[in-house]
Amino acid sequence: MKFNYMLPRIEQMRRCKDGREHYYVPTNHIEATIGYVAVRFRCKYCNELATAFLDMEQYKINEKLLNNYGG
Ligand SMILES: [Zn+2]
Repeated sequence: MKFNYMLPRIEQMRRCKDGREHYYVPTNHIEATIGYVAVRFRCKYCNELATAFLDMEQYKINEKLLNNYGG
C-alpha cells in the first residue's frame, strides 16, 4: 500500500530517478511535537526519504495504518 497521499503535494510530484512515481511507505521514525506529528516515509523503490507533517487529527485517523507498516 502506497502512502503518497499523506505527503505534501510537492513530494507527491517528485519521481524516482528512473521516472517512476515514488512508492512511499512509513518508517518507524515518528516524532510528535506540539500540534503536529512528523512521520518519515521512505520510497520502496529508490529509498528516498520524505517527511509528512500531520496534525493530531490526521495522525489519529492514520495511526493504526502507520504503526502496522512502520519499521
Ligand atoms: Zn522513489
